[in-house]
Amino acid sequence: MIPYAKQAISEQDIAAVTETLRSDIIAAGPKVEEFEKALCDYIGCKYAVAVNSGTSALDIAIQSLCLPRGSEVITTPFTFVATPNALLYNGLTPVFVDIEKDTRNIDPEKIEEKITKKTRAILSVDYAGHPCDYGALWGISNYHNLHLIEDGCHALGAEYWGHKVGTLADMTCFSFHPVKLITTGEGGAVVTDNEERAKRLRMLRNHGINKTFSERTGYEYDMKILGRNYRMSDINVTLGISQLKSVNTFLTNREAVVSLYNNAFENNVAIETPVARYVRHAWHIYTILLSGIERDAFYAEIRKKGIGVNVHYIPAYRMSYYIHRFHIDPADFPVTEDVFKRIVTLPLYPSMSVKNAMKVIDAVTEVLEEK
Ligand SMILES: *Cc1c(COP(=O)(O)O)cnc(C)c1O
Repeated sequence: MIPYAKQAISEQDIAAVTETLRSDIIAAGPKVEEFEKALCDYIGCKYAVAVNSGTSALDIAIQSLCLPRGSEVITTPFTFVATPNALLYNGLTPVFVDIEKDTRNIDPEKIEEKITKKTRAILSVDYAGHPCDYGALWGISNYHNLHLIEDGCHALGAEYWGHKVGTLADMTCFSFHPVKLITTGEGGAVVTDNEERAKRLRMLRNHGINKTFSERTGYEYDMKILGRNYRMSDINVTLGISQLKSVNTFLTNREAVVSLYNNAFENNVAIETPVARYVRHAWHIYTILLSGIERDAFYAEIRKKGIGVNVHYIPAYRMSYYIHRFHIDPADFPVTEDVFKRIVTLPLYPSMSVKNAMKVIDAVTEVLEEK
């Protein structure tokens, strides 16, 4: 089975991690800061706070806003559940807004009708690695005095009009899970240019304690706010430091496969290929919209041919927890529903060979011809 995603681990990665394993410090050590610095250098932002997952990054980013319980946050339903869950952890109400069909990102034109007196923030997601229209999102958030938080878990390395993801919102969250753009095993980070916010994020990932272990001279420390242990180990961040050296290669390798797919599918009437408007796309995933064939029938047939396709995403409002708690009517999200019913994720990863990409192309074409 050709998988839909796969990490790329080099001998250099293994050597780097081995070196950390042989050292005296494997947690709360100097490698964490080194990784954060490398991430800032790559993105061009001031502060990065490394944590143990993308979900933890979202959780502390939202928590750091100190919003009153019951506040509403505008977000997209077409994302992994970790995005709206981060709002629920913090006693906030997700208010879903329908998406744009071509980018599958939140539709800026449908945001204002969902803004109420309780709205405090927008939590955007750069679906598949295509940045949202941040010009429009900034306009809305400035006008209504809202925080703009970005779930950039798909979008490390992506750019909006030449500006890198991580410089486009008040805070941007990343994930370094193995299917994402770079990996640390599990891991994540929040980046920001706001010093006070960065300080708060550092406390929140470390129980809310004001001093890290290495900053302590005596036994004293104080817990100022209620935080968690969301720290990343030196073992994991060492992998991240090494992976970051390859991020541009990973991005161009993904782009090469995407060109093969786009060229092969461009003239196929049964397939709508993904767009890249005003952006450098990070191509975390490559998704197509099908017509003239049931998605589930396509999914079953192509898996029989050894192609590990996937579906991103079942909209959050279709999850039973969300149904029971929020009673959302899918009919309020016509574009999300249409896209969800027709979308398929094709295999894409940095080490994908041309041979495997051609196998995917042939299988897609065959299944559509056999229908
Ligand atoms: C992967 C992902 C997350 C969660 O990241 P983890 O590191 O798996 O916790 C959050 N949001 C989106 C959009 C993601 O794709």
